Amino acid sequence: MTRAAVFFDRDGTLCREVGYVNHPDRLALMPDTPAALRAVRARGLAAIVVTNQAGAARGYFPFHLIEETHRRLVDLLAREDAALDGIYYCPHHPDVGPPGLRRRCRCRKPGPGMLERAAREHGIDLARSWIVGDTFKDVGAGRAAGLAGAVLLRTGYGRGELVKHAACADVWPDVVADTLTDAVAHVLARVGREHG
Ligand SMILES: [Mg+2]
Ligand SMILES: [Zn+2]
Repeated sequence: MTRAAVFFDRDGTLCREVGYVNHPDRLALMPDTPAALRAVRARGLAAIVVTNQAGAARGYFPFHLIEETHRRLVDLLAREDAALDGIYYCPHHPDVGPPGLRRRCRCRKPGPGMLERAAREHGIDLARSWIVGDTFKDVGAGRAAGLAGAVLLRTGYGRGELVKHAACADVWPDVVADTLTDAVAHVLARVGREHG
């Protein structure tokens, strides 16, 4: 039995956009993140993070810091009775970094690799799933994975992204939302009612 998911970008979406998170303490939730995740999971949808984290490849922080930061994310959510079904990150960069991190991968958004892997590992029906993010890379990953739809947030880089891509965009979000709360309300209104 497959179920639908809502894929969430991390920085600028669930968490404040603060530049590179080079220490776990820099990670801070958006105020409406716990309630938004609770609403998604209460509907039987999986809540899954998909995040590009090329900072290690760029040498801005050690590789192990990515997973330390995600342990803090899980802890911050747990304090508010919220949880995620999975966290996927792409540590690669196509042009910089040591061997292993410097490569053209399928997982770096706008590639679909993280969404495809999550679908295999969590039994997700991509065609009924959505993505929420603050950049056109998030929207592009959703399109590439064949999702039902994509929401672009005006939080994080969102406002600037809309300006930058207004003239020429090969992908465009289905919904533009001011807040994560609004984004999740749009998704829950569109996705079929799920039964676990
Ligand atoms: Mg982002
Ligand atoms: Zn990758």
